[in-house]
Amino acid sequence: MGILEVKGVNKRFGGLQALGNVNLSVRENTVHAIIGPNGAGKSTLLNCLVGKLIPDTGSVMFDGNSVLGRQPHEINQMGISRVFQTPEIFGDLTVMENMMIPIFAKRDGAFRMHAVGNMMSEKDIVEAAEKMLVDMNMADKRNMHTASMSRGDKRRLEIGMCLAQEPRLLLLDEPTAGMARADTNNTIDLLKQIKAERDITIAIIEHDMHVVFSLADRITVLAQGTPLVEDDPQNIKGNPKVREAYLGE
Ligand code: ADP
Ligand code: MG
Repeated sequence: MGILEVKGVNKRFGGLQALGNVNLSVRENTVHAIIGPNGAGKSTLLNCLVGKLIPDTGSVMFDGNSVLGRQPHEINQMGISRVFQTPEIFGDLTVMENMMIPIFAKRDGAFRMHAVGNMMSEKDIVEAAEKMLVDMNMADKRNMHTASMSRGDKRRLEIGMCLAQEPRLLLLDEPTAGMARADTNNTIDLLKQIKAERDITIAIIEHDMHVVFSLADRITVLAQGTPLVEDDPQNIKGNPKVREAYLGE
């Protein structure tokens, strides 16, 4: 049993079948890449995991609990955190101020759920944010306004903001899209570091095969809304069905 189990998921947009009978099993503490040509349904699938879309049929189980019918913030509290395709940080705030936001949100969410208990103090929040900036190798940028940062650094901050919520499953939708090669390589190194240092499962949608083969333990290939193959990276490389799906682009 994987930490994430998707079974028989279908999703239609009017006459278009965006997802057709999708099955996916993501094992705990692995990096699972979902690849496939443009329009294959990768983002739609991700949206079904975080409550942004509701599948027409099928089930999505996270750690034995169904996510279907839950609001995105509830799914987030269950332990799933998502990095968006375009960075979602506040440009007129500093790196440190941005980093404090998810920690405040987690504190307030936990406080609402339990209504009692130890509320983190402001000092604890600052300390937690500072520790996360050190973990992300961004401590020297703490007072920078994020609007002036490179795409790679924005993404690094955003990944850190997701990790600050202490998720068990981190979802990334094309984290290196639009990045220069140096920023892409920095992002690969960061994700390798996260994988080595944390108990976390990562599901990543990625177009760049260099990124996929640098990180993935397991790969699912989606084509026209349906999984074509799921296998280890070494078996995906030479698979004729995969080549065909990509050549068809
Ligand atoms: P990918 O992320 O693999 O490129 P998407 O999941 O974004 O693919 O899209 C899959 C298909 O569903 C595409 O044909 C796309 O145009 C269509 N689609 C995605 N979202 C919507 C939507 N909200 N309404 C209508 N069609 C959509
Ligand atoms: Mg997409």
